[in-house]
Amino acid sequence: MNTSDMKIHPETAAIHAGQIPDPTTGAIMTPIYQTSTYVQAGPGKHKGYEYSRTQNPTRSALEGNLAALEGAKFGLCFASGCGASTAVMLTYSAGDHFVVCDDVYGGTRRLFTRVLNKCGFEFTFVDMTKIENIEKAIKPNTKLIWIETPTNPTLKLIDIEAVTKLAKKKNLKTLVDNTFMSPYLQSPLQLGADIVLHSTTKYIGGHSDVVGGFIGTSDEAIYQAVKFNQNSLGAVPAPMDCFLTMRGAKTLPVRMKQHSLNAMEIAKFLEKHPQVEKVIYPGLPSHPQYELAKRQMKDSGGMITFIAKGGLEKSRKVLEKVRIFACAESLGGVESLIEHPAIMTHASVPAEVKAELGIADGLIRISVGIENIEDLKADLEQALR
Ligand SMILES: *Cc1c(COP(=O)(O)O)cnc(C)c1O
Repeated sequence: MNTSDMKIHPETAAIHAGQIPDPTTGAIMTPIYQTSTYVQAGPGKHKGYEYSRTQNPTRSALEGNLAALEGAKFGLCFASGCGASTAVMLTYSAGDHFVVCDDVYGGTRRLFTRVLNKCGFEFTFVDMTKIENIEKAIKPNTKLIWIETPTNPTLKLIDIEAVTKLAKKKNLKTLVDNTFMSPYLQSPLQLGADIVLHSTTKYIGGHSDVVGGFIGTSDEAIYQAVKFNQNSLGAVPAPMDCFLTMRGAKTLPVRMKQHSLNAMEIAKFLEKHPQVEKVIYPGLPSHPQYELAKRQMKDSGGMITFIAKGGLEKSRKVLEKVRIFACAESLGGVESLIEHPAIMTHASVPAEVKAELGIADGLIRISVGIENIEDLKADLEQALR
């Protein structure tokens, strides 16, 4: 059962890639190697494992699995998505400049503007739905273009292929935060990106029980530099966390299909609802970039944003009245979540930036789970009423 030299589809890779039955016992599941160190036959005579910050077999299995799902030659896992972002960014130096999409994940914006700014890094945030905005932002010291698509919470799409073409022309690298789509629905490396990043906390883990991050690349130099930081910075995931994430990843394809089916139904239901002003979902023809969604994404995913009529008061009521949807931050789990970006996930974003990004007071974001669709619709119906 070693699939490393076979051409396999994502549904098979999710279950088998990177995982070889335990050679000593035949255990089909990769053991949780809960160990900090490894016995050596003599100084320097080891089996490829010396110390668990540097390497751990449970982590190696997960890294191989996720790399296969992204079509990457190399994969590296981290203690969180933010840990992964830090490890990539610290491969750069003081004086380097980065072009970042304007509604990048709030924690990424905070990391860039309130932590990495202290390292002498320079950032320009632009609306990347227009490629000329990126072109205008590029400076002689620009090193990397940081894309997140769909964006959060307004679900704007960025044309990955168009951006990577521009980047190559300018001799720049491109990173795509693929958390919202998961490796099953969008393949940034195949569209020309150099680095793909995940908060595995979301769809890859998929069960809201573990926090983690991932970096995938097929560029050996980038891999070596990020691997050096993985070991040097030390934001590595625990073996148990790797096990849980790998267990989650096995069902990623079936979950993503159901998330997309359910979300499509809910998006249509909301679009027709008299208490709803506007629905944003890449699977709806009303999405301004519907054509790009069709071209770039295998399906539309589980995230929907909508604006309830009646502003802050009404949207607050909806979040208090739901019974199956849970009012919580995060996304991508099997259970449906509902949140209010202006008050919750994007509370740290300055008011003027919120206004610029279109994060209105009545704006609600939902992460559609894989429960029964009729139950989900009934829950939203009673809450909106
Ligand atoms: C959650 C998230 C992150 C950060 O990941 P953590 O695992 O919470 O550190 C980064 N990017 C996106 C798009 C996210 O949703």
